[in-house]
Amino acid sequence: AKRIVLASRPVGEPKPSDFRLEEHAIPTPGAGEVLLRTIWLSLDPYMRGRMSDGPSYAQPVPVGGVMEAGTVCEVVASNNPGFKPGDIVLARAGWQTHAISDGKGLAKVDPSLAPISTAVGVLGMPGMTAYTGLLDIGQPKAGETVVVAAASGAVGSAVGQIARIKGARAIGIAGGKDKCDYVKSEFGFDDCLDHRDPDLAAKLKEACPKGIDVYFENVGGAVFEAVFPLFNNFARMPVCGRIAHYNDTQAVAPKWAGSLMQHVLTKRLTIRGFIVSDFADRRDAFLKDMSAWVRDGKVKYKEFVTDGLENAPTAFMGLLKGANFGKQLVRVGPD
Ligand code: NDP
Repeated sequence: AKRIVLASRPVGEPKPSDFRLEEHAIPTPGAGEVLLRTIWLSLDPYMRGRMSDGPSYAQPVPVGGVMEAGTVCEVVASNNPGFKPGDIVLARAGWQTHAISDGKGLAKVDPSLAPISTAVGVLGMPGMTAYTGLLDIGQPKAGETVVVAAASGAVGSAVGQIARIKGARAIGIAGGKDKCDYVKSEFGFDDCLDHRDPDLAAKLKEACPKGIDVYFENVGGAVFEAVFPLFNNFARMPVCGRIAHYNDTQAVAPKWAGSLMQHVLTKRLTIRGFIVSDFADRRDAFLKDMSAWVRDGKVKYKEFVTDGLENAPTAFMGLLKGANFGKQLVRVGPD
């Protein structure tokens, strides 16, 4: 069996030596336990936060500990009456080929409903993040303009497509022409702009002639600065992530930060941060709506697969810089 542990806490960008691959004997499940074999490992931006020990909503991974992750696993052996060998489960097995679980927190995945990888993608945590952040906080109405960055990614792609289902215009922001073209042609966004374009602010203004009603914040940085002046009165901003800043070693305020609250006041903006787990009670509604949208082709998804657990660190470092094109997965073992 193999596992990847946190070797050291990164300062700034994570580097290969912050991770260590370890080999060990396949563990044996005890009474009431199951042995899991990982098929799909989900890599997500929040893992950068778990590598640091600064104040956060979650505990950090200890140095020497297995990197945390959501996984899709097969039950290989079971001493737990709730599970039998061959069951496919959604687990938090982390960056490893095998794990022991007492069954708590495992959710069975039905392989006949959708490809099992979607349990950590469009029908899992990222899809639910898009659904709850956009619908519960963003509340887009028909005819309004919704802007989202990281638009080709797991969360952003779903945000724009759900906005369109609700009758809003969806404007994406993504890194580079290929991603922007895909966001328009495959995900059906009304427009998509490249965040590396030095004229982003002017182009965004052109793409949003009626201003911005909902900005689903995934990145911060230059994108947020381009968006902010375009907010309409009563605009909503679900703050989901700030990936442009995850490697920052100190916070730098934009030059207009002092006038931020003036804008919040005069435009009566709603700015609300959220963690997807805040909306656990929306899980049934999410699964019902999203499964139907995926089945009917109203929400499409794109996966970006890296093969082999040993390549997870490189894939993760790439994810923080836009090397992924779609939901970043690692195929750890055969389906
Ligand atoms: P993605 O699949 O979208 O991958 C991350 C993408 O971020 C990259 O592909 C890159 O795309 C983009 N990016 C990286 N750096 C920058 C930058 N400086 N400026 C603009 N874009 C950048 O990841 P997810 O969909 O999984 O996550 C999207 C966001 O949602 C993240 O901020 C994440 O932390 C957050 N999140 C929050 C949750 C919550 O509960 N609050 C839960 C899940 C996710 P590109 O090439 O287009 O630049």
